[in-house]
This record gives sequence, structure tokens and C-alpha cells, in this order.
Amino acid sequence: MLAYRMTAPGSAELVEVPLPEPGPGQVRLDVLAAGVCHSDLAVLHGGAARWELPFTLGHETCGRVAALGEGVDDLAVGEQVVVHAPFGCGHCPRCAAGRTNYCDLRASLPAAGLGLGLDGGMAQAMVLDRARVVPADGLDPVVAATLTDAGLTSFHAIQGAREALAEPDALAVVIGVGGLGHLAIGLLRALGSPTVVAVDTRAEALGLARECGADVAVLPGDAAAAVTGAGGHGADVVFDFAGAQSSLDLAVSLLRTAGELVVVGSGGGALTVSKPGVLPSGAVVRVPFWGSRPELEAVVGVARGGALTPRTTIYPLTDADRAFEDLRGGRLLGRAVLVPAGTRRRS
Ligand code: NAD
Ligand code: ZN
Repeated sequence: MLAYRMTAPGSAELVEVPLPEPGPGQVRLDVLAAGVCHSDLAVLHGGAARWELPFTLGHETCGRVAALGEGVDDLAVGEQVVVHAPFGCGHCPRCAAGRTNYCDLRASLPAAGLGLGLDGGMAQAMVLDRARVVPADGLDPVVAATLTDAGLTSFHAIQGAREALAEPDALAVVIGVGGLGHLAIGLLRALGSPTVVAVDTRAEALGLARECGADVAVLPGDAAAAVTGAGGHGADVVFDFAGAQSSLDLAVSLLRTAGELVVVGSGGGALTVSKPGVLPSGAVVRVPFWGSRPELEAVVGVARGGALTPRTTIYPLTDADRAFEDLRGGRLLGRAVLVPAGTRRRS
């Protein structure tokens, strides 16, 4: 089968590899769709230092069950599913609760997830533990794939800030309206009713932000005026999906007293926490990572209800290089999704 594999720092290639067979407690999926995340670029260009190469990229996957390993009797061949990919030890209390994203042994694990140090979904097929499979029948596979990281990470970030978002007339700012950020705006709309101010450096991303339900969408230089105009006191929550120095500085400047800064993007920016310092009094800072399996089930439920409409650009798996280059060049709106030949079918 074909697989898009990271073979060396800075390079990934489409190669032919043997079809993997599921072991006991595992399943094999025919991959229907695999999202391309900005983290994939970070991994390729320096973020995979402690992982063994090569491995198949792709941590955002929807597939169809194709083969069941020994002992798996609660799934049917042909069922459409999505993959909960964060890797955990599998044994600690957090893994047992489906919170593999916060496994107690995270720092010492040999990989961060399927597609992040272990073989992932940018292939015609993948093998994984049954425990990582979440039913997703009835959704467009391309939409379903985006839920597993862009949707799940956004959902988890929002859940963590739900008390602040429940303030009367809450104001939320979303910085970075890409794969994750545009779904975060949709989820903020679906889950509550804060006023949403969206910020991006690309004018075309501002149009997408408005389509997703942002009340106001502005370039960074206009963000302070937009927040003042929308609420007066500053933002109850700022979600930074860029994580760059300029976006973090902007995020801090927009925060209300006792507001929450949620840093999701891994853009390399740094924040000095001191008292007194740049953060307003009472501020909370979070650095969420991905999300739990129960949260993925919840996101699938939100999408089934029709409240979430990811913007996607489909590429054949054989065009993975082009999808990565388009993401790197800032030419994408929403999420790029790879589709292996011959497997796409609405279920
Ligand atoms: P993306 O490239 O699709 O979107 C990023 C968006 O941010 C783009 O629209 C870009 O124009 C905008 N942007 C970049 N710099 C900006 C700045 N300084 N100010 C305002 N806007 C800016 O990327 P994505 O796939 O949505 O990922 C976003 C970030 O989240 C990446 O850093 C990725 O590595 C990280 N990520 C984190 C987690 C987690 O669990 N914490 C999970 C997935 C991705
Ligand atoms: Zn990701």
C-alpha cells in the first residue's frame, strides 16, 4: 500500500509499504481521509527529534473498518470510524479514562501519537488499538477527519475555559483562523453565545472567520479597537492558535482582568509570568494539548447535529507534497485533507 512517511528530518516521501495486519485487540482501517495539520510541518522540520524514523504521518484520520484482530467483537467490518490518536502508556489512570493526551508518563513515551512517532493515517490503510476507534457513521469522511485534531483540540481548549465563557456578555477572541481556529469559532457558536472577535494576519482568513460565525474579524493592528468596541473591558478568553511572539503579545494585551489566555499554537512565542507583570491580575494561562476520547465522541456528536461545517480542500494522497507546500505557503483556507484513491465514499 502507499504511505506518506517521514524518512529523515525535513523530508517526507510517498512510498510502498506492506499492508499492516491487526494483532490481538487491534483493527485495520481503510483510510478514507487524513487531515494535514500545521503540527505536521513542525514535526517534519525539527519536532521529531526523539522519535524513530521512518514513520507514516497523519494524526487526523477517518477510516472504514477493514479487518478485526483477535478478541475484537464490538465493531463491524465496513463501519466508519475516526481515530483518537494521542499516545499514552495505556495503563495509568488518565489513559484508563481516555485522557491519553495527559498520560502521566507522557514525557517518557517513545511517541506523541499515531502519526507523531508511530504510523498514522496518511496511507491507504492503518492498524491501531480498538480503544482508539470512535464510531463516526453518517458523516462525510473528510469532515469527520478534521474533527479528530482540529475539532477535538479546539473543543478541549474551549471546555477548559467554559467558566470564563459563561460570564455575562462574555467576549472571546480567536487569534489564528486556520485549520483549528475556524473550527474553534464554529464550536464557540455551537456551544455558547459569547461575542467572538477573530484575528488573523491573512485577509482571506478573516472572510472565513465571518462565515464560521465570528461577530468581528480583523487584522492584528485593529484587534484592540475591535475588542474595545465589542465589550469595553477586554476579552474574557483569548485563544491563541498561532502561538507566535506577536500573537502572544497581542493576546496578553487584549485580556480582561481575571481573563483566560489559552495558548494552543506552537509558534515558538514566549510569555514571562511574573507578579506584577504583563498579565492582568487574576489571569489564568492554559496550554492545552489535543483532547480526550470522550471529548472526541462529543465533537462527533456536535458535527452530527449539523452545527459544525469545516472548510476543507481535498488532495489525493499522491499529492501530499503539494498539500504540505500549500499549508506552508499560507495558501490554504481551513483544512487540507488527503484522500487515498478509491476509498472515498459517503457512508
Ligand atoms: P494553520 O496554518 O491552518 O492556521 C494558522 C493560522 O494562524 C493561519 O490562518 C495564519 O494566517 C494565522 N497566523 C499565523 N501567525 C499569526 C499571527 N502572528 N497573528 C495572527 N494570526 C496568525 O495551522 P493549524 O493546523 O490550525 O495549527 C495552528 C497551531 O496549533 C499550530 O502551531 C499547530 O502546531 C498547533 N496545534 C496545537 C495543538 C495542541 O494540542 N495544542 C494541536 C494541533 C495543532
Ligand atoms: Zn495536529
